[in-house]
Amino acid sequence: MKKELFQLIEYAKTDLFGLSDYIYQHPETAFCEFQSCKAMVDFLKKFGFDIEERAGGLETAFTASVCPTGEKFPCIDILAEYDALGLGESYGEDLGIAHACGHNLIAAVAAGTGIGLCQIMKKHKIPGTLRVVGTPAEEAGGGKIILQEKGIFEQTDALLMIHPTSGTSKIAGRCRCSTSLRVTYTGYAAHAGNHRQRGINAQDAANICYTSIGCLRHQLPDEVQVFVTMTGTYKEQMLIPDKANLQIAIRCFAESNLESTKEKVKGCIKAGALATGCKVEIEEKRGYLGRICNYTLERVLRKNVEELEEPLMPGMVDDNGGEDFGNLNRKIPGIMFYPTLLPERKISNHTLAFYELCNSDKSREVILLGSRALAYTALDLYMDPSIIEEAKKELEEMLQKESGE
Ligand SMILES: [Zn+2]
Repeated sequence: MKKELFQLIEYAKTDLFGLSDYIYQHPETAFCEFQSCKAMVDFLKKFGFDIEERAGGLETAFTASVCPTGEKFPCIDILAEYDALGLGESYGEDLGIAHACGHNLIAAVAAGTGIGLCQIMKKHKIPGTLRVVGTPAEEAGGGKIILQEKGIFEQTDALLMIHPTSGTSKIAGRCRCSTSLRVTYTGYAAHAGNHRQRGINAQDAANICYTSIGCLRHQLPDEVQVFVTMTGTYKEQMLIPDKANLQIAIRCFAESNLESTKEKVKGCIKAGALATGCKVEIEEKRGYLGRICNYTLERVLRKNVEELEEPLMPGMVDDNGGEDFGNLNRKIPGIMFYPTLLPERKISNHTLAFYELCNSDKSREVILLGSRALAYTALDLYMDPSIIEEAKKELEEMLQKESGE
């Protein structure tokens, strides 16, 4: 059946490359991926998927399902992303919105995996549900988290997706949980020469907070990162500053460390207010939760990638970024494959160089490799759902282990 899958993906390659090109040429940002979402839906419809548009009430989300035998278990979701991002003003207007993270390839691979598998499942009457899920707004907005809250993944037993990378291809390990706090101190402005005793100095409050967090870092677990930036600049001369802003980011692998660090950082923030008499406001913007390693699924994926003769880094490789896949992956076992667009060296995503790779000859190889690797892996899981049960058990154990860290 894997040979058949290989061929089916080969037959579809012109269409898959076309789909990737179209999304690449029509870059759209978070929750506005109308053209990309429609292109995906139209593509999958042709292969007999049942489509639910506007999944979870999100205009640019969809689910595309097939369940050839009527037996729903196991339900395996192939996740698609198709949002673009801005490259920054220095690159000019044309690249203000661009596919510089390769989500056009994530979409094409999800489509390729889906159409290959659905034909095989129908032909060989394989029990289970296959879904391609269109998840908007990964770069900003956390579309997967919204879909999760709306119950879109209630029945899902396993998650598969790819993300293009550079350097040697890899299977993703953990990534970081994150949250950020915007802090505003409000004091009282007074002339620093004539009435300094009447002033309440907000900049001092920010300094005390900054210094306290510097001290706190020594007592935090090694894996915890705290970044503090003074964002409010005071411009008037000879006035005691009455406003100061700080931006604080906390990033760590373990969710429990995120919560405990946040409480300690809040203590530092309050220290600034208490010492100076300032009022303080804290606005939290929650980031994503980190991925959890699943070695049960890793073994299956690795075997298949090796069968496709793609060199892989050993083990599950942690990275310091964040992904809304992490939020799902803490409830449902899942695995992410990172096929490379540039094996010889590592470059950063979200750069002009990466943008160019996302529509290169190598990107076409990635579409085929990614589709085959995910399709083979899903097929193994459909043929032996006990692997999924094992992966679920491992997820529980890993979460328990993490909360003890
Ligand atoms: Zn990305």
